[in-house]
Amino acid sequence: MLMAYNEQQQIFLPYQYSREALQRCRQQMKFYCPQCQQPVQLKIGKYNIPHFAHIATNSCIQLFAEGESKLHLQGKIQLFEWLKNLGHTVKLEPFLRKLSQRPDMLLIKEHKQIAIEFQCSTISHEKWLLRTSGYEKNCIQPLWLFQTPQKQTTQGIQKISISPIMQKVINTTALGLSYLVTYDANTSRFIYWANLLYVHGHTFIGKVQELTIHKQHFPFYEPKTITKEEFHFYWQLYKKYCKQFVYQRLFHSKNGVQDAFLRSSYELGFALTRMPDYVGVPVKNGEAIPMFSIEWQTILHYYCRRLQLAPHELDERNIRLFLSHHHIELTIQAVQAIKNYGMMLAKRDEKDNRFPDIYEQVYAHLFAIDTIY
Ligand SMILES: [Zn+2]
Repeated sequence: MLMAYNEQQQIFLPYQYSREALQRCRQQMKFYCPQCQQPVQLKIGKYNIPHFAHIATNSCIQLFAEGESKLHLQGKIQLFEWLKNLGHTVKLEPFLRKLSQRPDMLLIKEHKQIAIEFQCSTISHEKWLLRTSGYEKNCIQPLWLFQTPQKQTTQGIQKISISPIMQKVINTTALGLSYLVTYDANTSRFIYWANLLYVHGHTFIGKVQELTIHKQHFPFYEPKTITKEEFHFYWQLYKKYCKQFVYQRLFHSKNGVQDAFLRSSYELGFALTRMPDYVGVPVKNGEAIPMFSIEWQTILHYYCRRLQLAPHELDERNIRLFLSHHHIELTIQAVQAIKNYGMMLAKRDEKDNRFPDIYEQVYAHLFAIDTIY
């Protein structure tokens, strides 16, 4: 805990004092937990950030993590000071009695309340959901800000691995582009993973950018859309992963002809070393289908051929049959992903298959939203 009450029931924030002053305070003052009212101890280690800890073990400790890391305490102070300096009304570690929850910070904006959670340690999906729904039920908007993973060091367009829990807090810009903001308390910088393009599993392609805390605003700045030139780089990376995927399947498939992807490629006469450019196309909602795009699109083409239909001619029923046959969860997003794919190919067909660069189409579909639609 970064705060406690003194004997006068006033909030005491040890980080605002020098170590020497705190030594004196510790001798002269008594501090109490804002939740359970029990006495707490002021800890002034050489290494850690001054903080409070309960003296006796009680249920309060179980309810709220005590052993917070230095990074977590440090990040909380940085973010709290930053929001205050921007002129926001913000409370540090307020105990919300009704919810029995204590967010790292609570920002009050007109009639809105935003609970900010700076998450340094791993958190289970259940715990995340419990806390998130606790806030939402009480009309508090939760904002999860994760500590930037240590491996993130370079800026620019690159492959990014995003853990399932962090995928939960992926945001979208007004134009519908996906991005994720994390905060690195070690360097006081916000790290943006912008213009996220889903590849497969936990893999995305994105543009990594950083912003020092002094330049950040609240609500956070929205990232800009990548340019067409930048998208070319995305496309090259994406196609490289498609190729790697195909080779892996070719050499490691245990199912042989039973493998739907290899079987479909064979039946369609696709050469695995030179797959046509219209399979392996990233589409909106593509993350709803947990297969690589080159895999489901190839299987889809074979399915279409048997039905003697073009992908854009598939109706809702056909699409649902396709999904259930391949054990893909039937969701609105998965259906939409297939419709999006069909729609993109239909545009191609209209123009006599003359699209030397299908990537122009994909760029328009994924990123140039405002100019195309
Ligand atoms: Zn307590």
